[in-house]
Amino acid sequence: MSFWNDFAMIWGAAPHKSQTISSAAQAMHQAKRGSGVEVRRKLREHAERKKKHKWRNRRWAVLIAVNLLFTLSFWFDVQLLEGSLTASRFLGFHLADVYSGFLILLADWIFPVNLVLGMTAIWLLWGLLGGRTFCAWVCPYHLLAEWAEALQQRLVAKKWVREHALHRGMRTLFWILFALLAALTGQTLFLTLNPVGILSRALVYGPTLALVWVAFLLAFEIAYTRRSWCRYFCPMGLTYAAMGGMSPIGVEYTLENCVHEGECRAVCEVPHVLDLTIRGRAEDVKQRIGPDCTRCGLCVDVCPTGSLRFQVKRFWEF
Ligand code: SF4
Ligand code: SF4
Repeated sequence: MSFWNDFAMIWGAAPHKSQTISSAAQAMHQAKRGSGVEVRRKLREHAERKKKHKWRNRRWAVLIAVNLLFTLSFWFDVQLLEGSLTASRFLGFHLADVYSGFLILLADWIFPVNLVLGMTAIWLLWGLLGGRTFCAWVCPYHLLAEWAEALQQRLVAKKWVREHALHRGMRTLFWILFALLAALTGQTLFLTLNPVGILSRALVYGPTLALVWVAFLLAFEIAYTRRSWCRYFCPMGLTYAAMGGMSPIGVEYTLENCVHEGECRAVCEVPHVLDLTIRGRAEDVKQRIGPDCTRCGLCVDVCPTGSLRFQVKRFWEF
């Protein structure tokens, strides 16, 4: 998938089959035709192995540690990581969520140096680590949404609830609407509704009534649409995806051993980025997963053939 296709997908474009498949990938697609016996053997072998949760466990540990650091810094007044995930100071250095900061700039039409410095620092950090890495490795709402998703999947299996898909372009619409609202009325409504900020502040300063809104979002995800806030609404996620397109860290797909059964797509929060794992879709024998990927590692853990792995690109590989 070209950079521009990946970029368009962030804003809501549907993945599509590429017209330019490399000759090596074409040969591999051809060789896989009629390989059903081999596929079943690989899947049987995998089913006998124990399920791994290596990346998920590492991720949860990092996420809990970061959020705990905010809380402990406040409780013990050690000024290590002060504030919350929307705006904070780490060892005295300002950090500010880029989209939230952007809304404040639009609303107030002033440019506080600390806010701009904080936004730049966060831009550099997540630009390097892969923007949506924030979602899976730091965001407390992501963790709650993963647990809600596990419950939702059980209810779907029992046919007690049905899954509904929405259009991913809605996230772009919300991004624009919140920005327009800030620019035209001076209201930063998103900062009030943002479950990330609500949860982060609740963890540091104690619970507030705003948690009812977070509970409503989670209930909506369970009853109606899987992972809806992160997939279809969150403008922070969209901003981080756009920022992280050139990150050296990402998940790489290798076509050779893939059996195309789709376990990766079934666990992924943003399955459109794994469209290339559908039989016949990969453009090349090795491809980087697009910037909407949260680097959660669930697909890496679940892939029966090791076809998805974390990879760090070196400078000259760009
Ligand atoms: S990359 Fe996806 S479709 Fe391919 S083998 Fe791994 S889990 Fe299955
Ligand atoms: S592609 Fe893999 S690492 Fe990226 S979001 Fe999906 S499951 Fe997570």
